[in-house]
Amino acid sequence: MSLADRLSAEIAARRDDLVELCQDLIKIPTLNPPGENYREICDYLDRRLLKSGFHTELIRAKGALGDSDRYPRWNIVARKEGPRGGECVHFNSHIDIVEVGRGWTTDPFGGEVIDGKVYGRGACDMKGGLAASIVAAEAFIAICPDFAGAIEISGTADEESGGFGGVAYLAEKGYFNPEKVHHVIIPEPLGHDRICLGHRGVWWAEIETYGEIAHGSMPFLGDCAVRHMGAVVSEMERSLFPALALKRTDMPVVPEGAKQSTMNINSIHGGEAEQDPDYTGLPSPCVPDSCRMVIDRRFLIEEDIDEVQEEIHGLLRHVQSERENFTFNVRELQRVLPTMTEKSAPVVQSVARAISDIMGKEADYVVSPGTYDQKHIDRIGRLKNCIAYGPGILDLAHKPDEYVGIDEMVQSAQVMARSLLDLLDGREN
Ligand SMILES: [Zn+2]
Repeated sequence: MSLADRLSAEIAARRDDLVELCQDLIKIPTLNPPGENYREICDYLDRRLLKSGFHTELIRAKGALGDSDRYPRWNIVARKEGPRGGECVHFNSHIDIVEVGRGWTTDPFGGEVIDGKVYGRGACDMKGGLAASIVAAEAFIAICPDFAGAIEISGTADEESGGFGGVAYLAEKGYFNPEKVHHVIIPEPLGHDRICLGHRGVWWAEIETYGEIAHGSMPFLGDCAVRHMGAVVSEMERSLFPALALKRTDMPVVPEGAKQSTMNINSIHGGEAEQDPDYTGLPSPCVPDSCRMVIDRRFLIEEDIDEVQEEIHGLLRHVQSERENFTFNVRELQRVLPTMTEKSAPVVQSVARAISDIMGKEADYVVSPGTYDQKHIDRIGRLKNCIAYGPGILDLAHKPDEYVGIDEMVQSAQVMARSLLDLLDGREN
């Protein structure tokens, strides 16, 4: 049997261990927000990885956005050096999960196995991927103990809320320095035969229109900020949304609908605040003097962030030219530039070869409609040789009855291990 086949057989033999590991991770409810049980899951991973010969470090993102004594942002970084010098392959998984939501028919924290699938919140996004990367690394170390270079595995906080107490913090502390880490695989659930090269850009902003408060029975004595915002929405329908639909990208974004520029109106708040549910009275009559809209603009690698902003400012100036007393303000909330790793990058090439060896088909290349932690590895870490690759169906993420297929976990662990064999010069022992 070839070394590559022995490695795949070793992972197949560890199937039950892989399932159990995934179940154990699901049973620790790491809900974010607020960010619960990060320390517990890091301690669990710490015990597991120490036993497998890794050197481990638990790092709290002290002072990062979201970190507090009540909800500390704990992260784990584990490293295993091979006996020979070489490059470092890093697997990064987020340990947080989103809220459960309604509509479950299985226990969201039970890790039940039904028909070859493990169910639970985070099964696909992304505790199944984390488990697969751990078993891949352990099997590789067992079969090729003489490897060249190093393997790192990290479990990081807060990806679902921007990653500031997780990968962003670690990148700032130098954990993704390209002199120390050479290849990064993020086992997000993009599918076990697809390589995700990157993501579209994000620009979040708050638009505020102003008016003048007055008695609601005499609105002519005031100026209604909500009507001004209505004019903004009309102008967006008239000119902006059709223009966005015409902007198409050459990035292989999935799903198809995200191959164009998009914008979501996330919220509009105008006038009196909503009252407590236990308030039984009526509202008071007032003309609203402020209306705020949050927009979530996703842009393409072909677009420039300055143009994206100017599009909104230009639209607002246009409304102003047609409307009396129209005043506005735009406040940026978040910006993330699009990123896309080259297909010729070594980690892409290596995982593509591994997919074709294990699955007998060519890898598909995709780009994610939304962002994930690659943004921090790229921008703060300045590390370009990074992809997302892992088991699970992206559409199941954040949905009820989320699951990950066991065969898929095993296959993607085999792909990851095959890639380690390739990148870290695994040899016959
Ligand atoms: Zn995720």
